[in-house]
Amino acid sequence: MENRVCATLLTCGQTAKGVRASVIACCKEHVELALDIIVDEHEVAPEMRVLTEEEQLSTTCEYCEKHAIYMVSN
Ligand SMILES: [Zn+2]
Repeated sequence: MENRVCATLLTCGQTAKGVRASVIACCKEHVELALDIIVDEHEVAPEMRVLTEEEQLSTTCEYCEKHAIYMVSN
């Protein structure tokens, strides 16, 4: 399933500053874990947004089999 691939850790290439950006899709249970990982990797406050219903259905949590609710990025 292509959606499954999209749900795993997405590496969005280079930002304007040449810093690698990370995006992690995660469910409610794993959102804190994802936030911790972003903070660890980038030492900046992560950005978090709630996926739309449609996105939730096509996105799987990075850490379990549930639908992702949040998208965490640096
Ligand atoms: Zn999860």
